[in-house]
Amino acid sequence: MDFTLSGEQRQIRDTVAEFVDEEVVPRAAEIDETDEFPADLIDEMADLGLMGMPFPVEYEGAGLDYHSYAIGLAEIARGSGGLGTVVAAHTSLAGNMLYEFGDEDQKEAYLTALNTGEDIGAFALSEAEAGSDVPAMSTTAERDGDGYTVNGGKLWISNGSVADTVTLFAKTDPDAGRKGISSFLVRPEEDDGFVVEGTEDKLGDKGCPTAELRFDDMWIPEERRLGEEGEGFVQALKTLNGGRITIAARSVGIARAALDEAKSYAQEREQFDRAIADFQAIQHKLADMDTKVRAAELLMHEAADLKMRGEDYIKEAAQAKLYASEISREVANEGIQIHGGYGYTKDFPAERFYRDAKLSEIYEGTSEVLRNTIAQQLLDE
Ligand SMILES: Cc1cc2nc3c(=O)[nH]c(=O)nc-3n(C[C@H](O)[C@H](O)[C@H](O)COP(=O)(O)OP(=O)(O)OC[C@H]3O[C@@H](n4cnc5c(N)ncnc54)[C@H](O)[C@@H]3O)c2cc1C
Repeated sequence: MDFTLSGEQRQIRDTVAEFVDEEVVPRAAEIDETDEFPADLIDEMADLGLMGMPFPVEYEGAGLDYHSYAIGLAEIARGSGGLGTVVAAHTSLAGNMLYEFGDEDQKEAYLTALNTGEDIGAFALSEAEAGSDVPAMSTTAERDGDGYTVNGGKLWISNGSVADTVTLFAKTDPDAGRKGISSFLVRPEEDDGFVVEGTEDKLGDKGCPTAELRFDDMWIPEERRLGEEGEGFVQALKTLNGGRITIAARSVGIARAALDEAKSYAQEREQFDRAIADFQAIQHKLADMDTKVRAAELLMHEAADLKMRGEDYIKEAAQAKLYASEISREVANEGIQIHGGYGYTKDFPAERFYRDAKLSEIYEGTSEVLRNTIAQQLLDE
């Protein structure tokens, strides 16, 4: 067992960290304030190869291993939780759907454009009445000539209003439950009937637009179906398993930012004629925060390792995401506490870390649903 990062992994971490410190951290408060999609930063990340990190170079990806991808994603989220979601939804969800289930033509046409950052990707699974209960979805894709006519709507779609390629799940056989779900590539610019209803005004995760989408008699050609009819549910679950490693990474990045900020503040802030970092109560908080972040990082790397070796990693990815998201919120909470009253204001980023951390406990499987998954896996072992 080797816990040392390879030369390439260290290089990725340092390159992304430098970019984040120079370009993202100075912009993070503004992104949080305006909630605008930071297209210029995305272009810069594309130039660095950060929009297709885990995909092969033959599709213009960066060809990184999953550890490096998770390290890179954590660094991006250290700068901005919203940017972390933009890259995670684009890469782990939309990109992975294409990479795992697309045919050669689909990969060449659409995955390549995602990897270069020319296109932005989104993953449209959830609906107003179908969040955790995916098979309850009501969006339909009905056979129509050489393609399908889609009707329905999706809710909470990260990147949904800015995406060029949306991986969409719809029922091709409404009576067949989870076996009646299929997936498609939607091109909002080309497909009449694709409507962005609006974007959510959220607690945090600013800069990543979370959109409500509607499909009115939207016709899409058969060549844009991913895999066979009826495979969509299993494709979604497999994609979300991999995605959970990146949400663990996003959580680790935000927690690391909260810890770094709290540590600096504790060393500077004086009360009773000494730095508050001299008080054992504060030291213990910092010790617990660091221990939790490191434990989350190890779970993230273990899941990444299993995924890369082609072994089953459902339980480990769920555990990494569950633990990392919960400690991220806890660490950010302690970060506010260490800042005292200042932590409750927008003068310091501590409160932003808390708002951004919370989301990871909700999307790509809520903590409750992940506990169900872990227990099921455990009892089946
Ligand atoms: C900012 C944001 C971005 C998102 N991005 C995307 C995206 O890009 N693509 C996409 O498809 N979706 C996205 N989602 C949707 C997200 O995945 C869902 O919100 C999530 O799956 C939960 O579904 P729900 O909100 O309908 O909650 P519900 O499923 O209604 O759950 C409500 C509560 O009940 C609990 N619960 C539900 N079922 C069970 C059960 N069986 N056992 C125990 N407890 C249960 C839940 O844990 C939760 O506490 C996003 C959501 C948000 C907030």
